[in-house]
Amino acid sequence: MASSGQKVVLITGCSSGIGLRIAVLLAKDEKKRYHVIATMRDLKKKDKLVEAAGDAYGKTLMLLPLDVCSDESVKQCINSVKDRHIDILINNAGVGLLGPVESICMEDMKRVFETNFFGVVRMIKEVMPDMKKRRAGHIVVMSSVMGLQGVVFNDIYTASKFAMEGFCESMGVQLLKFNVHLSMIEPGPVHTEFETKMMEDVAKMEYPGADADTVRYFKDVYLPSSKDIFEAMGQTPEDIAKCTKKVIE
Ligand code: NDP
Repeated sequence: MASSGQKVVLITGCSSGIGLRIAVLLAKDEKKRYHVIATMRDLKKKDKLVEAAGDAYGKTLMLLPLDVCSDESVKQCINSVKDRHIDILINNAGVGLLGPVESICMEDMKRVFETNFFGVVRMIKEVMPDMKKRRAGHIVVMSSVMGLQGVVFNDIYTASKFAMEGFCESMGVQLLKFNVHLSMIEPGPVHTEFETKMMEDVAKMEYPGADADTVRYFKDVYLPSSKDIFEAMGQTPEDIAKCTKKVIE
């Protein structure tokens, strides 16, 4: 349970990458300012987080299951937080999707919007009433540079982040009237499992519906150059965690 003066921070998608690093950084805060509720959709994946948290696990860091694509899971998670009181919500969970649109099935496109857009909407909808009532709170959303700029072959991912940016810009104005702040973080490439997962999907892709020139452009031009950009510009999840901590301080 949070001790007095500690801020309750709930973070989505803490099984890997940026979410895991934010959870650990806040839980290990020298002044113990945060009581971290690190959530993930499958608690069987908790080992990496628990190991990285070390002594903080069970003290300033606790775990809860949460699938941002499920109304029921979101409600259950927030209901199990004492008095539903969350000071800071960090919407980090997200999925990527790469490839020619012609080759991507509608089901995969909908999954991206369910996670990256409706996942954030669901969370904000659930925590907002309490924050408004208390006239205090901070909601952070992990967007992307692709929430600001379209990038070839990332059409659906880009669209999901643009949608989220639009929702948050609009919500932010309303929430500010209740002293609830909404911040967006827009990282460029970050070295996490995100890229690996997308590349695994790409490796399985058979390109139905796409013409030969598009497939060649994707495989021979886009993929090698995006790999180079990643290697040259990629930040670490720790960099983004530090930036997130600055935003909420
Ligand atoms: P990771 O793939 O390492 O982490 C994504 C996290 O989201 C995982 O914990 C994953 O859980 C979780 N997640 C996926 N779907 C759901 C769901 N339905 N419910 C709850 N959790 C879910 O990637 P990153 O750490 O890089 O990504 C974190 C955020 O940063 C994302 O929103 C991403 O869009 C954004 N971002 C990433 C960039 C990058 O280059 N890596 C650049 C810019 C922004 P599980 O293990 O269960 O799949």
